[in-house]
Amino acid sequence: MLRILTVGLMIVLGLAACTADPSPPAAAVDALFSGATSAETPGAAIIVIKDGKVLQKSAYGMADIKNGVPFETGTSSRLGSVSKQFTAMAIMILEERGKLNYDDPITQFLPELSRFGRQITIRHLLNHTGGLPDYYDVMVEITGVERPLTRHALDAYSAWGEPLFEPGERYEYSNPGYELLALIVERASGEVFGDFVEQDIFARLGMSHSVVLDDRNPKLEKRAFGYRRDGSGFTLFDDDPLNYIVGSGGIYSSVEDLYLWDQALYGETLVSKETLAQAFSPAVLNDGKHYPYGFGWRFDEHLARQRIAHGGSWVGFRTFIGRYVDDSFSVIVLSNLDEAEPEAMADTIAAIYLAEGETRNRPASTTIVNARILDGSGAPEQSGNVRFIGDRITAIGDFTPSPGDTVIDAGGMVLAPGFIDTHSHADSELREHPGALASVSQGITTAVVGADGSSEFPLQQFFDRTGKKQSAINVASFAGHGTIRSKVMGEDFRRHATAEEIGRMIGLLRGEMAAGALGLSSGLEYDPGIYSSAEEVIALALEAARYGGRYSSHIRSEDQWFWDAIDEIIEIGRVTEMPVHVSHVKLALRRELGKAQQLIDLLDQARAGGIDITADIYPYTYWESTLTVLFPNRDFDNREAAEFALSEVTTPEGAYLSVFKPNPDYVGRSILDISHARETDPATTLMDLIREARLYQEQSGETDVESVVAVSMDEEDIRRLMNWPHTNLCTDGSLVASHPRGFGSYPRFLGRYVRERQVMDLATAVHKSTGLAARHMGIRDRGTIAPGLKADLVLFDPETIIDHATPSAPEALSAGIRQVWVNGVTVFENGEVSGKYPGQVIH
Ligand SMILES: [Zn+2]
Repeated sequence: MLRILTVGLMIVLGLAACTADPSPPAAAVDALFSGATSAETPGAAIIVIKDGKVLQKSAYGMADIKNGVPFETGTSSRLGSVSKQFTAMAIMILEERGKLNYDDPITQFLPELSRFGRQITIRHLLNHTGGLPDYYDVMVEITGVERPLTRHALDAYSAWGEPLFEPGERYEYSNPGYELLALIVERASGEVFGDFVEQDIFARLGMSHSVVLDDRNPKLEKRAFGYRRDGSGFTLFDDDPLNYIVGSGGIYSSVEDLYLWDQALYGETLVSKETLAQAFSPAVLNDGKHYPYGFGWRFDEHLARQRIAHGGSWVGFRTFIGRYVDDSFSVIVLSNLDEAEPEAMADTIAAIYLAEGETRNRPASTTIVNARILDGSGAPEQSGNVRFIGDRITAIGDFTPSPGDTVIDAGGMVLAPGFIDTHSHADSELREHPGALASVSQGITTAVVGADGSSEFPLQQFFDRTGKKQSAINVASFAGHGTIRSKVMGEDFRRHATAEEIGRMIGLLRGEMAAGALGLSSGLEYDPGIYSSAEEVIALALEAARYGGRYSSHIRSEDQWFWDAIDEIIEIGRVTEMPVHVSHVKLALRRELGKAQQLIDLLDQARAGGIDITADIYPYTYWESTLTVLFPNRDFDNREAAEFALSEVTTPEGAYLSVFKPNPDYVGRSILDISHARETDPATTLMDLIREARLYQEQSGETDVESVVAVSMDEEDIRRLMNWPHTNLCTDGSLVASHPRGFGSYPRFLGRYVRERQVMDLATAVHKSTGLAARHMGIRDRGTIAPGLKADLVLFDPETIIDHATPSAPEALSAGIRQVWVNGVTVFENGEVSGKYPGQVIH
């Protein structure tokens, strides 16, 4: 609990520790505390940790002056706001147990707070972005009790104060928010908060000196008392009517116990690494900007290193924990004097120790100077520098590079977050093409795969493989509905699934969600998804929603029954209350061309009705799919259907084969051209080609034996759909391209649509390629340039950026992309991949 207080200069206090022949840095640290030698002074305990080993553990001064008890490294001292990280951990544990989701409205657990609206989520409280009013000053007045406890005061609190701002609008440090989180822990677990934290965190880690001080009156052995200066001496400063409030403070612990805590945060004893990664990600505000505070931790830079830290202060106690995770180095300081400055002490201690191995241990740091920065939030460009250390951005703006930085002169080019491709088919191709030239050469740093209902299975295996430095780009994946359906129904998929089969699909989906899928994707115009009922899709989507997932769909029809298909995805959004995303939105039927505004009106209407519907788009008038997709009724011998496809969906001269294994000579040739060569009409040719492809597939056992690229969209529709504020860019491409979108989408968008045709300004275009895409996919620590976020960056020349990939040369590299970084490592520079694979799996 951080009450407003005035602190003096860092005071050096306590008795020098009696360490036998201390090492040079330990002696230097001891000297910091040598100023006060009297047994009449309050004290402190410190611990310095490197690579899991304790480099120094010392205590100084007194824990209890009156009784002459010295401060020891096992002394329990009040943590103040450092307690918040334990509250957040309790929430994370319950999230992993499926008891709550971060995006659940808090009213689900605290209906008493309905007055504040249901839009404040657990995540808002964790990030201090909920906008709830503070109450300490009026505590007694609103509760009528002298020593109120939060859970007894909830009714009173719910009647008091007005929200300070819209949830997610900004960051404002909030103690009540964490107190409400403690209550949510109680309601979600059915246990008293103190019992939960002591059993599920302290006991599991062996933190035997740690307790939650509340009205259970737990035993506090070997505790420190808080003090403040009083004339020439010190007086007790330990009691406060709000001492027993939990969630925002109230925990006592020792540096020995906090060593166990620090180490647990490198492992998976309490929660998985993926869960921890969320805690260590900055808050995302409504405007797409980030604030460097996660779940009970803030992020900053110190000694040219990333630091994850938190301080605490309450009555006569001051506390600080600073973790330099790139170095596996931590400093923890606990003090029982109200004017102590533990952060400054910890900084000095860190400087003493880290200076020792400065050249050896310092993580790589880079400053890109002289850049036109578009931060991805949609904000206008600013000139300046961006610095990153290890894999995270640490500074943005006008500053001087630190000594030791690699300095890169951007030469006035645009520096943007790496592009996030929300619809990629790179999944299995990454194995053979880990450098992902198709992606990195156009500035993509993250590919969202598992698209169109088709994903790698099981995802855990795919993630394990990809995460082991096997990819230049980051990867996130949806769980594919079609893939799961095939696992359950096999070859017998041309029908609705039974309830029992849907149950088995849900079981498989759970495994994929638990592995870290972003949600459910579907390809309802393809086999086997096209045979599913809406009920089946909704049942699975609901399950994904239970895990906090989202739904992304190649909708059931992109031509004949387009409007029904749009209705279906809106309905899925309405029933499941989860975010739903229209993949590669397009109008592709002749009679529907020019109706983009009608579509946008419909989507806006759904959004106004509370449905979180969004879309992505690729910048081409021609799509690529299978020949069979042209026959939604799967009547491949129906001449009428063939003629409809070649007149209303595309044209014989506008559709050409991009893959055709039965006769590779046809690749690159149009249906019209092939029909001339075969001396028959185009409709017959189309039906014959499908028959030949299916026969070839049956005999060879191969998949993906045919593919067609077909012109069918309208430029004006594309322009309007691109400009819808809820549309982000994607490629729908592959690493081995047959459609030029695999290599050219982003340079084409930025060159042809933004620079040449000026369909939107550059800041908006970058936002649609980065921050907005991240938001639509639920990716929280990428997509904008801000301290604490991952260092995925692209440097490009907005005056020359352009695609060169065409249908006849689909793998031609684009121009204008100068350098691309993924997690702080260069993956592409001046036309070539670096051969480095820093890509991470995003869960
Ligand atoms: Zn698709």
